Amino acid sequence: MRLINNQETLIFEKDPRLSVKRYVSVLGHFGLYYFSLLQEMIEEVMMNDMFFLQEALKQARKSLSEGGIPIGSVLVDSSGKIVATGHNRRVQNNDPTAHAETECIRSAGRRRDWHTLTLVSTLSPCLMCTGTALLLKIPKIIIGENKTFMGAEDWFEKYGVTLIQLNNQECIDMMSQFILKNQDIWHEDIGIPR
Ligand SMILES: [Zn+2]
Repeated sequence: MRLINNQETLIFEKDPRLSVKRYVSVLGHFGLYYFSLLQEMIEEVMMNDMFFLQEALKQARKSLSEGGIPIGSVLVDSSGKIVATGHNRRVQNNDPTAHAETECIRSAGRRRDWHTLTLVSTLSPCLMCTGTALLLKIPKIIIGENKTFMGAEDWFEKYGVTLIQLNNQECIDMMSQFILKNQDIWHEDIGIPR
């Protein structure tokens, strides 16, 4: 994104806080006040995203401690309350559809406010979980990483769902180590034939 102000051209950085700092230097004191507020808002949103991801990570660790695949999810309502949690139970329950996101959604039970919820997952959701989120019209998805596996993120874009990818190192390390040690279990999870 570019902002043209007088003769100056600013290129927005990937980190929104850097963009705010550049913007402030052009717009002076008024800009400083306005954008320091904006910066605080951005930082608060980023902190919230990280808080919810940490809760999803707790679920992932729980699965790992049970001998399962370390993927976890939480559902958050519009007031910031966690309304459901879930972790992958495919190994534990001998259930090929027991992914973290479907387990989380299932535990949320029957409700009519899906269109106001945020689904948080440590890993990019697979086709099945993406389809479930789209069916229920969940408008926002936060994911820890998509380096070890990428699901159907283009589907979210197609249906206008907000997708935030946090590229979290803890999530990447947890899945990388698990896949390295348990390649057969992981391939079974994502439908790769032996
Ligand atoms: Zn899934």
